[in-house]
Amino acid sequence: MLHKISLGRSDINRYRQIDNSELVDEVVALGRDLKGLRLCHINSTPFGGGVAELLVSYIPLLRSLGINADWQVIRGDHRFFTITKGLHNALQGAPFDAVNKENIRRAYLSNNLTNARELDPNYDVFIVNDPQPAALRHFSTTHNSTKWIWRCHVDSSEPNQAAWDFLRPYVEEHDAAVFTTKTFIPKDLHISKIVTMTPAICPFTSKNMFIERGLCRELVENLGFGHHHHLITQVSRFDRWKDPFGTIAAYQLAKQKVPDLQLAMIGSFAQDDPESTDMYAAIHTEANKDDDIFVCSNLTGVGNMEVNAFQRASDIIIQKSIREGFGLVVSEALWKETPVIAGNVGGIPLQMTGELSNYLVDTVEGCAEKIVYLLSNPSVGKRLGREGKAIVTQKFLMPRLIRDELSLVKSLVNH
Ligand code: UDP
Repeated sequence: MLHKISLGRSDINRYRQIDNSELVDEVVALGRDLKGLRLCHINSTPFGGGVAELLVSYIPLLRSLGINADWQVIRGDHRFFTITKGLHNALQGAPFDAVNKENIRRAYLSNNLTNARELDPNYDVFIVNDPQPAALRHFSTTHNSTKWIWRCHVDSSEPNQAAWDFLRPYVEEHDAAVFTTKTFIPKDLHISKIVTMTPAICPFTSKNMFIERGLCRELVENLGFGHHHHLITQVSRFDRWKDPFGTIAAYQLAKQKVPDLQLAMIGSFAQDDPESTDMYAAIHTEANKDDDIFVCSNLTGVGNMEVNAFQRASDIIIQKSIREGFGLVVSEALWKETPVIAGNVGGIPLQMTGELSNYLVDTVEGCAEKIVYLLSNPSVGKRLGREGKAIVTQKFLMPRLIRDELSLVKSLVNH
């Protein structure tokens, strides 16, 4: 049997303190309509990256609404995850190894077949996240009435056509597909229901709960950061699309004008990302050339609480992605009222609207210029932070995501 992640319940009513109570009422009513529904999310890693982050807080909330929600994780070896990382990259526009397409197809399908046999099939609805498990539906022996939804979290606005042609037939076997924004929907996808919804964060987790800024500063200073120094931070998987070297280059340019500047590159490894080890080593080599760049990771004890502290203690959060499905880290930082400078790509502009959109950047130089400006004008940063928190409160908290997803589910099942 596939691994089911062990999770509890968390009360949706906590959101009444911060969120629109009418929205919570709507979500509670949807829960009542779907009471007892067996719903299972499937993905390929229990930790590292946005999907795992989402599900950890999402599933316990569904349970408190009366839904029998679970999360199963598929298994795979190094070869399988190398193939699926290749597919992930190609969906975001990287070249696809079309020469080895038949070998890739065989390995991909054989893994999905094995996982389909191991899947606990006793659910009314499966939500399959991303390309790794996209062919499970093809092999599943679930009841005819079971509904399958494919949820794409990557920026598929300009996919490599060969990679998309490879995946599309499996995706089209689903009853519905979900994308983060309209521009990510491939034009040749034929499926009866396609909807868009953005991800969301949970303010009550150790990643996002309130911690006094003084304590956060103390925590990061204990890791070696200077008491009177300016600090900028990027929090990301060690991944090429997060442009870590662009972030380092922007820091180096900004440091010419702000000599006390320090940079934290906080990163994590994910079970389904075999490229992260090499990327981590390359970032380390670059960072070692400068005493004011620090590379920290979940392997060296920088977990959720520490990420929370960095996001609060930093003067600015950088997310200089060159492709980005959504970028939960942007909402996480804005929730903490920390100003963000980020790549003008994918799902990031959805989060940085109004005045915040002036801090969407396309180049290293543009990023450096904004860093220097915000460090010289802290009152602007404070205003951006406040505005950012208002945007997140209105659009990117869990009740809104639950409403969107359960509305889709309700339209598919006759419960
Ligand atoms: N994250 C973390 N520790 C790290 C790096 C990232 O906990 O060292 C978390 C981060 O806080 C966020 C998630 O991983 O919740 C990354 O999600 P995002 O949507 O930004 O990017 P993805 O990894 O899905 O591409």
